[in-house]
Amino acid sequence: MRFSKCSEQAVIHLRSHRLALCGDHFTERFRDVVKKAIKSYRQLTKDDKVLVAVSGGKDSLALWDVLLDLGYDAEGLYIDLGIKKESYSDISREKAEAFARNRGAGLIISDIRKEYGMSLHAAARKNPRTLCSVCGIIKRHEMSRVALEGGYDVLATGHNLDDEAGVLLGNLLRWNLELLRRQAPRLEAWHPKLKPKVKPLCLLTERETATYAILRGIDYVYEMECPFSLNSPSIVMKEALNRIEERSPGTKLYFFKKFQRHRNLFASREEEKQKEEGAELVECGICGFPSSSDRCAFCRIMRGKRKN
Ligand code: AMP
Ligand code: ZN
Repeated sequence: MRFSKCSEQAVIHLRSHRLALCGDHFTERFRDVVKKAIKSYRQLTKDDKVLVAVSGGKDSLALWDVLLDLGYDAEGLYIDLGIKKESYSDISREKAEAFARNRGAGLIISDIRKEYGMSLHAAARKNPRTLCSVCGIIKRHEMSRVALEGGYDVLATGHNLDDEAGVLLGNLLRWNLELLRRQAPRLEAWHPKLKPKVKPLCLLTERETATYAILRGIDYVYEMECPFSLNSPSIVMKEALNRIEERSPGTKLYFFKKFQRHRNLFASREEEKQKEEGAELVECGICGFPSSSDRCAFCRIMRGKRKN
């Protein structure tokens, strides 16, 4: 390691940056990198009312912690999917609630069993989709619904560099142009009911967010991955990138940043844009969110049985 900022014991070596940092310098740098992402990708302003989607894991709690420290008006949203396996939902919910209590920050809980009368498993049993796909539909819908109903300006998620680089590799291998176009650190709202989505941890690795959370004394769910996602394709992409990173430190960050710089190479041509926008214009007859038919995927799964 060529460079260490002070005489304190280093807690982390960042090979890709040739840096060895003590706890204080590492947390300072972590915040600076979040600030840099927010600024370069125009993710947030200090006037924004931010809704942070928190899963109880290290990334989203670290994100919430940094945003509060940087002076953002940031409240949390935890979506309780009622996952019983390994008491996953109960434990993650407790971590999110404990963090909110300690920081005196507002936390909204969306308990889908209470709201819609069924857990993720009950919903997935009645649907041909995979559990992970149903889970994604429910989470996206609840994030959008709470952001709209609570009058938030922007929704922030804890996706880190490993997540983003992994998804990018997967989308490139399949040349999924539509998903590539939308893989942005700030995704603008494309419908009046939707809010912009930002990922302020997109320049920081999983290892960095875990180190930050530990140094800050944040109590999070250690099994970072959901107990059902252990064989998911995104994990294979992440593993492949980690092997490349070992041989060639810095590749992950370079891969992601360069893609963002050249993302408009994948921009739709005018007629494709009209086709895509045209296809998205219908509103769900039950919840009013944009949908490809008169009932959105969420309302079809949950049967619109929302209890008010
Ligand atoms: P994942 O899809 O599990 O990789 O999580 C990606 C991001 O989605 C997390 O960093 C959180 O911001 C958000 N998220 C995941 N699960 C939940 C949840 N149960 N409630 C609220 N936000 C969540
Ligand atoms: Zn709907």
